[in-house]
Amino acid sequence: CDGAGTAAAWLRVAGVVREHCDELVRLDRAIGDGDHGENLRRGFDAVVDRVTSAEGDTPRAVLRQVAATLISTVGGAAGPLYGTALLRAGNAIGDRPDLDATAVAAALEAALEGVVARGRAEPGDKTMVDALRPAVLAAAAAAERGATIAEVLAEASAAADAGAQATVPLVARKGRASYLGERSAGHLDPGARSTALILASLAGSAA
Ligand code: ADP
Ligand code: MG
Ligand code: MG
Repeated sequence: CDGAGTAAAWLRVAGVVREHCDELVRLDRAIGDGDHGENLRRGFDAVVDRVTSAEGDTPRAVLRQVAATLISTVGGAAGPLYGTALLRAGNAIGDRPDLDATAVAAALEAALEGVVARGRAEPGDKTMVDALRPAVLAAAAAAERGATIAEVLAEASAAADAGAQATVPLVARKGRASYLGERSAGHLDPGARSTALILASLAGSAA
């Protein structure tokens, strides 16, 4: 039960990305160029190689390592977006040695701000923002009520999943899928799906 700020939690995310690589490739083949699963798998394989669980690493140090690894290895749209998200999340946490529920909710909010600063997507554009934004809102509400880290992440994960599913009817307005125009409707956005998978894994680690 180590939340989202440990190397072990991110190694578990790497396992989930690997398990779902084919699914993410399939989703991206429908409305993009079919590489989202491979992009993320390459990045998280590098996380497994490079991110070491040094005793005494703060959550920020872990997030910075993961972010730098993803930025230099994932490529595509998703690499810089996820990298920026994790850098901002780490900075929001600051140097504190461990997390509480409010810090986790604030880190998620900073991650969303990073994705939006980088990609300029708005809610409803059929991107990872449509999974991450509901997660941030759910996390903030849970933290506000005094929920535990595990509860905050569980609610964020459920909201991200619902948000990802809700991208199906949307017409993409950002990223490669937007080239398809109306034909992008009827498909789940791959980046929204991967965001939901990552949050589900982090929630599992915190449980
Ligand atoms: P690429 O499109 O370069 O091949 P990926 O396939 O790895 O990159 O990632 C595609 C995903 O990235 C999309 O499904 C979408 O969720 C996300 N994405 C693309 N552009 C943006 C953007 N401007 N803002 C937020 N997310 C975006
Ligand atoms: Mg792609
Ligand atoms: Mg690509």
